[in-house]
Amino acid sequence: MPQQITILGATGSIGRSALDVISLHRDQFQTWGLSAHSSAKQLAELATSSGAKFLSIGSGHAAELNLALYGAAPKIPIHEGREGLNYLAGMPESEIVITGIVGAAGLLPTLTAVRAGKKVLIANKEPLVMMGPEIMREAEMAGATIVPLDSEHNAILQCLPAKFQEESTTCSNAAGVDQLQKYGITKIILTASGGPFRQTSRKALESVTPEQAASHPNWKMGRKISIDSATMMNKGLELIEACALFSVDPSQVEIVIHPQSIVHSLVEYNDGSFLAQMANPDMRIAIANALGYPDHISSGAEKLNIGELGTLEFGVPDEERFPCLKLARLAADAGGTAPTILNAANEVAVEAFCNRLIKFTDIPKIIDQALDKLPVERERNLETVILSDSNARRFAYKLVSEQRNTS
Ligand code: NAD
Ligand code: MG
Repeated sequence: MPQQITILGATGSIGRSALDVISLHRDQFQTWGLSAHSSAKQLAELATSSGAKFLSIGSGHAAELNLALYGAAPKIPIHEGREGLNYLAGMPESEIVITGIVGAAGLLPTLTAVRAGKKVLIANKEPLVMMGPEIMREAEMAGATIVPLDSEHNAILQCLPAKFQEESTTCSNAAGVDQLQKYGITKIILTASGGPFRQTSRKALESVTPEQAASHPNWKMGRKISIDSATMMNKGLELIEACALFSVDPSQVEIVIHPQSIVHSLVEYNDGSFLAQMANPDMRIAIANALGYPDHISSGAEKLNIGELGTLEFGVPDEERFPCLKLARLAADAGGTAPTILNAANEVAVEAFCNRLIKFTDIPKIIDQALDKLPVERERNLETVILSDSNARRFAYKLVSEQRNTS
């Protein structure tokens, strides 16, 4: 019997890549539920081509989806709004949930999938930034499995010893145990391409456009993560994500620049060995790995031609030109709801930049002020996280409008 899969955020870059991989393995996987925020037509097309059984769409879009599906047989039930999304995330029939929603909007559905004991393949990193350790604890209690889809974290998982992999995916890393020391590991190394502005001067960064920021040199991704890659906040979020997934301290994670995006991350062992995972920059590879885990299944991605690869470069990130890296480390070290404040202020600032309300270089300034001025709740639970998230959004919106009025 094929395993039934639900994809949250099916119309996005991750969702579509996941559907591509699933279509290669129809004997093993069956698409069960698909969700989208507002793109009814696209969701209807994906539902028809994948044979999905249940759909969910953002509030106010169900009628349009119904219309777009007209004629599809058999009739596919449509759920709507937040409740619809949560229903899909926890549907008893599907065993696997892929989280491809962008931003904090994915927090509740991620928690629902985890609490329902699913195999959760996590691309949507923001919930892990907001309350990763709590999500991992809930997963352990519910018997859920968590497999990272983010290419760096999927690479790290592959480079860890088998026992560590098992503890990480079953979320049973004993709290308080130094996981790296236990397994003779000295460091986890996340690679970053450096984004489209790797060599852009600080002065020139002042006037870059949303279009320039969104055009990543190596990866084709959604708009928000592309802008995050340009500010390097993506790597900052990934640092916090890695700490949650592998139960490590921020000081045990290093970030290096690797412009070719071929080495997706590395693990440094205490004997001096480095294990790295290499592949073409194509998310279908990480998705196939997570779907088949622990087996490797085909992804449909082009293979690397090692003989023709040429030079692979590595370097140290410039935290002065890319202050988001420093801010993310600051939030990671502060703990509590500081990462939630970082994430919420970033989401608001990125949106404002995309709407041309602020400059690219204002993004880190807004986040910095939010971290500096807003109170951090030491105790982290759903309530404190949601409260910190909305306070930080309000604060960041206020800064955006002040900025607009002065410019
Ligand atoms: P995207 O913008 O292409 O797609 C986002 C999806 O989420 C769409 O289906 C959209 O309908 C849905 N969505 C948007 N807002 C929503 C809301 N408020 N409520 C419910 N659904 C909503 O984004 P993406 O690039 O596919 O990224 C998705 C997530 O995966 C992000 O968290 C990103 O950081 C992570 N990720 C993406 C990539 C990549 O290559 N694209 C790689 C690693 C990690
Ligand atoms: Mg990544």
